[in-house]
Amino acid sequence: MTDQGRRSFLRAAGATAGLAVLSACTSSKSGSSVTAADWNALAKDLSGPLVRPGSSSYDTDRRLFDPRFDGLRPAGIAYCRSPHDVATCLAYVRKYDLPVAARCGGHSYAGWSSTTGLVVDVTAMATVQVDTAAGTVTAGAGTRLIDFYNGLAPHGRAVPGGSCPTVGLSGLTMGGGVGVVSRAYGVTSDNLVQLQIVTADGRIRTCDTRSDADLFWACRGGGGGNFGVATSFTFTTHPISGLVLFFLSWPWSQADKVIAGWQSWAPHGPDQLWSNLHLAAGGGAASIEVGGTYLGSVAEAARLVDQLYAAVGSQPSSHFLENTSYLHAMLVEAGCTTLSVEACHLPGQTPGGQLSRQAQFTKSDIFTRPLSSAAIGTLLSGTEKFLTAGGASGGSGGVAFDALGGAVNRVAPGATAYVHRDGLFQAQYTTDWSGSAPASAIGRQQTWLRSFYGAAHRYASGQAYQNYIDPELTDWRQAYYGANYSRLSQVKARYDPGRLFRFPQAIT
Ligand SMILES: Cc1cc2nc3c(=O)[nH]c(=O)nc-3n(C[C@H](O)[C@H](O)[C@H](O)COP(=O)(O)OP(=O)(O)OC[C@H]3O[C@@H](n4cnc5c(N)ncnc54)[C@H](O)[C@@H]3O)c2cc1C
Repeated sequence: MTDQGRRSFLRAAGATAGLAVLSACTSSKSGSSVTAADWNALAKDLSGPLVRPGSSSYDTDRRLFDPRFDGLRPAGIAYCRSPHDVATCLAYVRKYDLPVAARCGGHSYAGWSSTTGLVVDVTAMATVQVDTAAGTVTAGAGTRLIDFYNGLAPHGRAVPGGSCPTVGLSGLTMGGGVGVVSRAYGVTSDNLVQLQIVTADGRIRTCDTRSDADLFWACRGGGGGNFGVATSFTFTTHPISGLVLFFLSWPWSQADKVIAGWQSWAPHGPDQLWSNLHLAAGGGAASIEVGGTYLGSVAEAARLVDQLYAAVGSQPSSHFLENTSYLHAMLVEAGCTTLSVEACHLPGQTPGGQLSRQAQFTKSDIFTRPLSSAAIGTLLSGTEKFLTAGGASGGSGGVAFDALGGAVNRVAPGATAYVHRDGLFQAQYTTDWSGSAPASAIGRQQTWLRSFYGAAHRYASGQAYQNYIDPELTDWRQAYYGANYSRLSQVKARYDPGRLFRFPQAIT
């Protein structure tokens, strides 16, 4: 695997399950609508290209981030260059009764940014414009995260966001967005001040707290793909001159003490501190690592990590702590330490893109209570079991915890659609494998992950992160949205009464 984020070994989703649900969802629209549709007319009406089966680029253009979804074959992929192009696409799918899916970075863990009908791709709308006087940034809805950070960097400003460089701003923002400065500045959607979106009726709307305020509320955490196709986002920005990046590891024999120490430290530190904890197994060994960032001086960061060492009861066996820029920190978090911004893309996204796609299977939990010693034991034995699970050569499995608290939890659960405001940390359970892995070994890795998640889940709150969308989650309405679901449903009824936008876990 080429580095697709330091956390990439912990990213994943159920291949066969995801595909099965997708085809079940989209089969309600008949294949005859696809063949009856006048695709040439659509191509003429768009300012951006329309890619159809048979075109030389079709097989690369139809791909999502995860190769598990390579079997999906949309009837058309429209690269929209403007909100007007998006409105044209929506009029077209309404006319021919075609399935439609918006696509940005293509990182949906369930493959739900593809369809058998028309993919409305927004990646051609990707300019990043900083208004220093207003302290805001307006980014095209197709902006990828590393380009967003790169656009902000010369202005010394930041907006919290995730670490995978090729994740799209649209999916991330509409489902929340957790990243290295979230304890200081909230989730990505907390920083959204305005949104341009094309709704099912084809209207191009500019939403904020005064205009289409309920739609604006829903798009801050209600999840991508539900309410329309976003075309641009305006965020408030935060001055950021630099930050301290750290990585610490201990021997696996100390893992129980590290987890206990970390959970008493990371969610309760100052807002400027963010940290994650990784338990991982693969290559015949289990490992534990703590990473993080601190918005302040190296001396203050060193004092804080000393507190962690005291809580753990030992010094780490290796440690790295350095002052750097926000952009460089995001390149490191992206696994692009030695790469340029241009190279920190997938091939085809930029001329020099050097990253690779990654097959993964993943689930999530949000923990609102500290882990008991029994829960810690479950996490350790569950991680170790990967080593004997019969996974693919080069495959790995584990869990990553991201510290919450701070600014994330100071927003009321109903203030935006992003409901998760009482977490201490969120967990992402993941297993991944290489493209050549045999199906039987992949199946064993997925079985391991379901069992690991099942054992740990009973200690969690029942909430799950909607951006780690999980086709196997049966109580997803409650898990992703809690008490906000009924209002989301009302917004859906108002802006998409005909349910143009649908997928197995769409708001209804
Ligand atoms: C490797 C990896 C690393 C990740 N790291 C992080 C992380 O650090 N922090 C974090 O919070 N999350 C992270 N995520 C999760 C990520 O936020 C979600 O997968 C997100 O939905 C991806 O957005 P996208 O635009 O790339 O995906 P897409 O697959 O393009 O879209 C996701 C959903 O949003 C819809 N959508 C896309 N564009 C639009 C639009 N313009 N308007 C309306 N709906 C739209 C799609 O139809 C789909 O339903 C990671 C995911 C992966 C695979």
